[in-house]
Amino acid sequence: MKYFLLFFAVLLISQKSEAGYDKLFEDKTLRLDYYHCGNASSEQFFFDELIREPYWAGSKTNLIDSKGYGTHRIEMRTADTNELIYSRGYCTLFGEWQTTPEARTTNCCYPESVVMPFPRQKVVVSILARNKAGEFVRKFEYPVDPQNYFIKTENKNLPVFDVVKSGDPEKKVDLVLLPEGYTKDQEELFKADCRKFADEFFSYAPYSQNKSKFNIRGVWAASDEAGPDIPGDHVWNNTRLNGSYYTFDSERYLMVDDFQEIRSVAGNAPYDYIYILANTDKYGGGAIYNFYGISAAHHADETGKIYIHEFGHLFAGLGDEYVGGVEYSDFYPLNVEPWEPNLTTLVQFDKKWKNMLPEGTAVPTPVKPENREKTGVYEGGGYVTKGVFRPWINCLMNNLHSIDVFCPVCTKAIQETIDLNCE
Ligand SMILES: [Zn+2]
Repeated sequence: MKYFLLFFAVLLISQKSEAGYDKLFEDKTLRLDYYHCGNASSEQFFFDELIREPYWAGSKTNLIDSKGYGTHRIEMRTADTNELIYSRGYCTLFGEWQTTPEARTTNCCYPESVVMPFPRQKVVVSILARNKAGEFVRKFEYPVDPQNYFIKTENKNLPVFDVVKSGDPEKKVDLVLLPEGYTKDQEELFKADCRKFADEFFSYAPYSQNKSKFNIRGVWAASDEAGPDIPGDHVWNNTRLNGSYYTFDSERYLMVDDFQEIRSVAGNAPYDYIYILANTDKYGGGAIYNFYGISAAHHADETGKIYIHEFGHLFAGLGDEYVGGVEYSDFYPLNVEPWEPNLTTLVQFDKKWKNMLPEGTAVPTPVKPENREKTGVYEGGGYVTKGVFRPWINCLMNNLHSIDVFCPVCTKAIQETIDLNCE
């Protein structure tokens, strides 16, 4: 009976949202910039500014996050009745930094930014973060009056071009590609790289069967010098987004620290997801759930596979199914079920892919040749050898060099995310 009632409650909320978008929101984006600060054991949020951006590309029916993914969550409630009218889960670079050795000895701040549909009435925007038990706790609140004349409307007025055009932004997954380290005479190179991205992207399942559900656009913004920074090689280039290898001292981890600057370039186009093409052939990249993704556009052999792997993190919240590679401590506490759909600590495996296991599957499932491409519960994943389990022996979210497909668990998560964006 309880489940029955819950079902109807969810149905009511979604129906109300569908009818109510235009009553609640304008067809614009409200962006809230803040600083995410702290150390290994604490985090704080400091308000920076509010910005009104020209488009809203997100779903107008799925306004409440039904997935529950991410380490953080943004919520918007009406100021007068406290009704939840928008929510989204996401993760941050600061959150990853908190698990590095450096965070145990120093404090640090990262510029961050969240976006939501622009409200017509007074609202309160909150940021929630997971506690050690994995539950969301409210950490920051900011009241927003949409009439406030301090909400900025400045726009960079950067040129936008279509790469793949399928239809209305609200009914499609809108991907925006940004250039990092392309000089002013390399605009055509960037456009060619955007087309190459799209060709690669739609050559992998399940994206290949869903091409008509995606729009891809590019925003052109030149850099003074070519290619991101490579601190380990003493390379420091003056570029638009200031991308850098050696993030957290991991050579191949290419990231951008200033997410606000990324948003300022991206906001010229309608978008749901931001992917940055870095003008370099050096292997590397990175991506964070509902934050942004970035990778090398000219790697000799595997540019497309890196796109696909990183986009899995950004888009569907997929975790890394590999072992090692980064120095994180306690990234997946073994007494908590990770929120990533393709990893489990077996704490709440019922919520994961248990119903996708063939009958009689041993848990844990032994890694042996006859189990190749057989869904199971294989120990090792999420950077550690023990206590975290993955669904396939290998998958594009694991060792991408030796496989071309996603496991069925990752495929299902990607398909569900595509569908949620298109309703
Ligand atoms: Zn997988």
